[in-house]
Amino acid sequence: MAETLRLEGLTVRYGEHTAVADVSLGLEAGTIGCLLGPSGCGKTTALRAIAGFEPPSAGRVLLQGREVAGPAVHIPPEHRRVGMVFQDLALFPHLTVADNIAFGLAGGGPHRRERVEELLELVGLPGAGPRYPHHLSGGQQQRIAIARALAPEPAILLLDEPFSSLDVELREQLPRELRGILQAAGITTLLVTHDQMEAFAMADRVGVMSGGALCQWDTPYNLYHRPATPFVADFVGQGVRLPGTVLAQGKVETELGLLEGAVPADCPVGRQVDLLVRPDDIVIDPDGEGMALVEERVFRGADYLYTLRLPSGSRLLSLAPSHNACAVGSRVTVRPDLDHLVLFPREGGPSCPVEPGPAE
Ligand code: ATP
Repeated sequence: MAETLRLEGLTVRYGEHTAVADVSLGLEAGTIGCLLGPSGCGKTTALRAIAGFEPPSAGRVLLQGREVAGPAVHIPPEHRRVGMVFQDLALFPHLTVADNIAFGLAGGGPHRRERVEELLELVGLPGAGPRYPHHLSGGQQQRIAIARALAPEPAILLLDEPFSSLDVELREQLPRELRGILQAAGITTLLVTHDQMEAFAMADRVGVMSGGALCQWDTPYNLYHRPATPFVADFVGQGVRLPGTVLAQGKVETELGLLEGAVPADCPVGRQVDLLVRPDDIVIDPDGEGMALVEERVFRGADYLYTLRLPSGSRLLSLAPSHNACAVGSRVTVRPDLDHLVLFPREGGPSCPVEPGPAE
């Protein structure tokens, strides 16, 4: 499938500060991508560089195969065929919904009215044209802002924290709805958010950013189950990192016993490692005499999230059905149920003997 967006080593500097550092990725036509990361990691700057509001300091932006920003190229935003929805939506309060949407359309006449009605149908608000923005709920206003951005038929839709101004209930429901709308219409979209659940609910591909760099650009499933770095492992989903030692190829000794699975090349025999353990990797048996102490439990409806302490002091998380509750302070037996091993070389930990390098 053709790519709508490609970033090649995109770098944006503000004076001495590098806000976006050497980011490369590709987004296929008709799919939804997301840049995810904590505040200040460079998500919005990357989006603004794609839209044309920030010139790259290095690297290139290609839209539908055409270079729109690069060392010798700067196509202005209005000629890039991007639709952008900002955090605050910025609908014109004195214009009707129809006029807000039509704002981005050239020319008048019946085609204009038809196009506005078509867009209102697309976002699930047929007939809302004569109303004013303040007559609409936050979620409806957001859909109008998206309809307006789609009016000139952009090649890509860019959404900056599209759900941040909405209340909690809508923030759960709207990402799913919006994904359905964009997918059905085949609109290539890139959004940015700091909220992992939004990213997972919306996107086919998610890029986790930290300090301006793109740590991993992957499916939500792989980010959760096969995080490429400790930062991604910690930022996406819950879990702990448990110390271990690689004993032989495919075997890792941990406080939970000997675990078997594929071991990455950067974790040779003898290497001290951190094993990522997600709450759904740990099964507990409330037998009252196991090695783990229930330190805390949080009721989450269908299940409890337990915090367990092992004899070494290491903590584990475990998800277990809430009808089978274990009391805080009780002892439980812990059984690891890992589908595969996610290992990171332990920072500062001794590794297998290595030949000393040449003296410096
Ligand atoms: P948030 O979610 O808080 O908006 P973000 O991940 O979108 O964060 P950016 O807004 O892209 O991050 O900012 C990245 C870094 O660049 C931050 O350290 C920010 O302070 C800095 N920065 C952003 N815009 C400018 C600017 N116009 N001038 C100087 N520094 C800036």
